Amino acid sequence: MQTAASLDRMKSSFIREILAAASDPDMISLAGGLPDEKTFPIELLKPTIAQLHNDISLFQYGPTQGYAPLVKHLNQLYQLPEHHKLLVTTGSQQGLDLIARAYMNPGDGVAMEAPSYLGAMQVFDFVQASILPIAQLADGPDLEALERCFANDKPKLFYAVPDFHNPTGVCWSLATRQAVAKLCIEYDVTLLEDAPYRPLRFSGEALPMVSSFCPDQALVLRSFSKIASPGLRIGVVSGPAQWIEPLIKVKQGADLHSNVPAQAMLLGLLEHPEFEQHIAKVCDLYHGRYQVLLKALEQLEPFGCQAQPVAGGMFVWLTLPDCDSFAFAKYLIEQGVATVPSDVFYSAEKGVSALRLNFTNATPDMLQEAVSRLAQALATR
Ligand code: PMP
Repeated sequence: MQTAASLDRMKSSFIREILAAASDPDMISLAGGLPDEKTFPIELLKPTIAQLHNDISLFQYGPTQGYAPLVKHLNQLYQLPEHHKLLVTTGSQQGLDLIARAYMNPGDGVAMEAPSYLGAMQVFDFVQASILPIAQLADGPDLEALERCFANDKPKLFYAVPDFHNPTGVCWSLATRQAVAKLCIEYDVTLLEDAPYRPLRFSGEALPMVSSFCPDQALVLRSFSKIASPGLRIGVVSGPAQWIEPLIKVKQGADLHSNVPAQAMLLGLLEHPEFEQHIAKVCDLYHGRYQVLLKALEQLEPFGCQAQPVAGGMFVWLTLPDCDSFAFAKYLIEQGVATVPSDVFYSAEKGVSALRLNFTNATPDMLQEAVSRLAQALATR
């Protein structure tokens, strides 16, 4: 059967190729954006799991907006204003998909940092939106380019990951946050703030969310994949109520509602007195691994490689001397290291040559060995 034309626009997934290679037991994978399974809060989940059978209604169809006690808890946690609303989604990825389907007509513009999260590009490609790349600098998007884009191309949305960006790890400065919010208000562009890595800060002080400077001009995506478990598939989208209502309608057609027992499990976790401490432990673990990786990467400087330091998240962006990052990543697989090449994270424009390195799902020994293999590959390519 012929597939829909919209499918042709989706990038063929090099990631799938990498993940297949990463299943080789001799391969060290820094490719996936995976949390370490050891961090999954199984002990904290056990009391709730043991109680699930006591409430049979959890196994019935539920409301599209989400499991009511969880919705209530999250409303308080995020201190949403009275006229705002939230929707529990099947991972924040579904939030992205619902927003694209509810709001984007073919040809509508969506500005995005370049490079940007592949999963967001796929979603916007699928609805045939026009992706408008804005260069990502060390402290956030190029503001002059953003203003030019807002003024000339009049995008409907600006999709951004201001905290520990995927793939670069960049965390926007306070001044950039304020400036972007101001531009969104001035040019009437809706900010789509995607914040799955925000709780994973391991140094420095948290900065206000960009949306806090333009709450009525923003939709916010949050996720529990990185601090609890991606398998639970729970994310949240929030914003002005009139912008959430259409998403609820689209979600009804997509999956009726998210998994109710999973939502009840998440609520139990959020109410557990040790959950905050759990997040702090996860951040400490990842901080240690990040430091090992950053130190090891110094040995690649003579090859013209530069690692950008980060204050949280899951990724380090390693810039390479100008090369075909795709071809180099393939060569690296032959050397026993899986990474993601920068090309994957750009829409159509030529980007910098770089690799995204994940440091959360490999032990310090594995990280060091991966960098030795990288050095070997750079020396022999
Ligand atoms: N946004 C970004 C920037 C991501 O990196 C990811 C996952 N890698 C997601 C959204 C989707 O996360 P989830 O659906 O697991 O909440």
